[in-house]
Amino acid sequence: MTETTAPRLTTTAGSPIADNQNSLTMGHPGPVALQDWQLIEKLAHQNRERIPARVVHAKGWGAFGTLTVTNDLARWSRAKIFSEVGKKTDLLIRFSTVAGEQGAADAERDVRGFAIKFYTEEGNWDLVGNNTPVFFIRDPLKFPDFIHTQKRHPATNLRSPTAMWDFWSLSPESLHQVTILFSDRGLPVAPMYMNGYGSHTYSFWNEAGERFWVKFHFKTLQGHRHYTNAEAGEVIAKSRESYQEELFGGIAAGRFPRWKMQVQVVAEEDVAKFDFDPFDLTKVWPHALVPLEDVGIVELNRNASNYFAEIEQAAFSPSNMVPGIGASPDRMLQARIFSYADAHRYRLGTHYEALPVNTPKCPVAHYHKDGAMRFFDNFQRTPDAYYEPNSFSGPRQDPSVAEPPLKISGEMARHDHRVGNDDFRQPRALFELFDAGEKARLYANVAAAMAGVPEFIVERQLALFEKVHPDYAAGVRAALAATA
Ligand code: NDP
Repeated sequence: MTETTAPRLTTTAGSPIADNQNSLTMGHPGPVALQDWQLIEKLAHQNRERIPARVVHAKGWGAFGTLTVTNDLARWSRAKIFSEVGKKTDLLIRFSTVAGEQGAADAERDVRGFAIKFYTEEGNWDLVGNNTPVFFIRDPLKFPDFIHTQKRHPATNLRSPTAMWDFWSLSPESLHQVTILFSDRGLPVAPMYMNGYGSHTYSFWNEAGERFWVKFHFKTLQGHRHYTNAEAGEVIAKSRESYQEELFGGIAAGRFPRWKMQVQVVAEEDVAKFDFDPFDLTKVWPHALVPLEDVGIVELNRNASNYFAEIEQAAFSPSNMVPGIGASPDRMLQARIFSYADAHRYRLGTHYEALPVNTPKCPVAHYHKDGAMRFFDNFQRTPDAYYEPNSFSGPRQDPSVAEPPLKISGEMARHDHRVGNDDFRQPRALFELFDAGEKARLYANVAAAMAGVPEFIVERQLALFEKVHPDYAAGVRAALAATA
């Protein structure tokens, strides 16, 4: 924009500003006058430029794009997003690391968030997953404890390998995710070179009211690329923003990353075919048991024009579901359904869904009333319809989108989530997929991360690796000896 076309500078109230270089002073030299409302407004805004960072997934990178459906899913789900082959739905993806703060380096070994907001014609559907198909824990009561081990120690204010390995070695259900984290895929080169997973088991239901259990997969079409620890060290020495540079720069240059979206689906009554809990977030569904079916192609093709407004304020929540897609008995999912929306109300404000990036692209009509950011008008045709039921043509419920009922049996109790679970078989299946080079890097990565951890904790973790595979424990032990 040239100077001749530049708009006139104003205050937030629209009043034109005559001088944006000099404060209003009493004499020259002389003190600033309290009545300099232009200066006060500017300083006050600067003080409010930050909102609370996300407690987890604080550092992120995102872009907009589309899902194009390539396969007919109507037999499983009535969700409008899947209603016809060729259908395109707008979406936003925010990738992130989990533990680091907003200024953390991008190329750090960590799980990556892979959160997708699909702007469907029946509301926003958020699939808030990771680049790993499983998670460290299966019971949400342990989530704050787990995250505390990933964050700073209260006294040293440093990350604590002792806390991490103490927790993991006392939580055998973490073995699967720990093995992924310290494998090659634990340190992707950039977001476009990694897969995404919905991770939880969700449900589909169709027009006939039949329910299916479903897992979501997003396979990178750029190919997997990872850094070794040494390579990442070199990258971080040059740039802490390597992901933002690759993702933003690539899209700006017309290189649009793509993923193949796939699902694994089983009928509600077919859970009997699993010899493990199919709702356990520490487990995958083996492909040989439940094959992958194509859904479509996800492409990212537009950068945000304002990072803060569109990526930092993007609010993803597993509670954003649409008719045809629902929850499952995965207890981690229930906790996240509460926790994510609660986090957004805290960090963004009550009506965070009304922010442009979060606003659905379909009609919205509800009776929630006042509070922070109530900047939108009444949805009702008349302001008299501000409660429900009413006689003034206010929005009404639509029973046609009711989810089929789910039968639940069992006793309400704090059931021991570790009883009857095999925490070793699936990490073993993964370990056996690794070639010799991958195994050697796994051992070295684990050993490097254990630096300074007390012997008794290391030994407890080695005993768990031993149960996965004797070579795993022996390999890590040898790598520890080599670094001692
Ligand atoms: P399969 O051999 O059928 O599937 C293997 C899966 O693992 C593929 O999705 C593949 O992803 C991924 N994979 C392949 N090589 C590696 C590697 N070196 N590091 C990490 N992931 C890799 O076997 P199963 O389905 O029986 O699963 C075996 C193990 O594979 C599981 O225990 C789990 O740890 C891991 N896995 C399984 C997934 C699943 O949904 N079943 C998903 C991801 C991992 P890609 O096609 O992108 O190469």
